[in-house]
Order: sequence, then C-alpha cells, then structure tokens
Amino acid sequence: MGDWKYGYPNVECAAHMPAPGYAVCKHVLDGATADFVEAASLTSLGQILCGPCSRDPSPGNVEELLLVCSHCAMAKGWLTSKDLS
Ligand SMILES: [Zn+2]
Ligand SMILES: [Zn+2]
Repeated sequence: MGDWKYGYPNVECAAHMPAPGYAVCKHVLDGATADFVEAASLTSLGQILCGPCSRDPSPGNVEELLLVCSHCAMAKGWLTSKDLS
C-alpha cells in the first residue's frame, strides 16, 4: 500500500479498508450533481455537496450529511483523482 497520506480522520466502511472520510449531502446521495468537492486533509473530513448546500451550509443541511469513505465516493463518481491531487 505504500505510505498512507492520511492519518486522520479515516472512515472504515463495510466494503473498504480505512480511508479518508467525506461528508456527502443527502441531495448528492439522491442523485444531485456534486458541485462542491473539498479533498480530505490530515485534520478534516472532505466535503461533497450539491450547489445549494455548498452556498448555504445551514445546520438543517448538515444534519443530512452522510459519511462515506473515499473509495465509495470514487465509485459513485463524486470524487475523481484530480480532486485528490
Ligand atoms: Zn445538498
Ligand atoms: Zn467505502
């Protein structure tokens, strides 16, 4: 596996090894375009949000966030390798 770029926070989903976590809004989960993608860092989760949520990250929307691992986000097409560079 080589050097692991991320120490924290990692998510261990049912399908994958521990990997950087991404908070995904429920609209993207429901099929909305992922307009805003922020890569995970050593200290914070990444974010994958639809347009309205990225412009108005209100508490009501934050409650709807789901945590997924980067592999799952890649598999769904929300995350691309260019987002991680
Ligand atoms: Zn949204
Ligand atoms: Zn996963």
